[in-house]
Amino acid sequence: VGSLEQIQNEIRFDEAGLVPAIVQDATTKNVLMMAYMNLESLKLSVESGETWFWSRSRQQLWHKGATSGNTQRITSLSYDCDGDTLLIQVLPQGPACHTGNVTCFFNEVSLDKKVSRAIPANDRFAVLAELEQIIAQREKERPEGAYTTYLFEKGVDKILKKVGEETAEAIIAAKNKDNDELRLEVSDLIYHLLVLLEERKLPLDEIMTELSRRHERPRRD
Ligand code: AMP
Ligand code: ZN
Ligand code: ZN
Ligand code: ZN
Repeated sequence: VGSLEQIQNEIRFDEAGLVPAIVQDATTKNVLMMAYMNLESLKLSVESGETWFWSRSRQQLWHKGATSGNTQRITSLSYDCDGDTLLIQVLPQGPACHTGNVTCFFNEVSLDKKVSRAIPANDRFAVLAELEQIIAQREKERPEGAYTTYLFEKGVDKILKKVGEETAEAIIAAKNKDNDELRLEVSDLIYHLLVLLEERKLPLDEIMTELSRRHERPRRD
């Protein structure tokens, strides 16, 4: 087959016969995990359309999700300039990390302010992810005087009440055909929804994945 020939000729496995594979969510572009593949697992991945790796700790082939159910459907497979690293885009069926995290890369090293204020990626919706992070930080640190702190102190019922109020306000603005007002109210609503998701510990990524899963699957009704 063409793809197997390409793999044999182009992928440079290391002395142990392994090549690192970076797994990326095809929808959110989140980097999910890194694991090693040998020729056998790479062939299995190409043939089955799901990720297979070589487990260095267990010294055996590893079908990602075999026990957890969180398999990864491959949408693209590429290798870098010198063929020593794979990049695999997937539609994950659940969290990639065995800890239950969406991504294995949740351990953040704190950088000094100058560095962490670097301009974020030019992604239209990056502000949502940034807002989610700020809200999570407020929840952890509870800085005095912050409105977000106030919401978390009051608890889930207060947050739900605000979601209801902002929804009603958005409805009224839409009914009045007042887009200036609608912009403000929908912003209020989205902010309070993000606070709610943080309170419930439901990552925004899971919402994004759910939304993309819906429009990618043919409708059955
Ligand atoms: P799974 O492949 O999801 O069924 O998980 C089976 C086992 O593989 C887990 O108990 C972990 O030991 C290991 N594992 C799963 N996902 C990862 C990961 N992202 N990184 C490292 N080890 C993992
Ligand atoms: Zn390289
Ligand atoms: Zn992990
Ligand atoms: Zn409002």
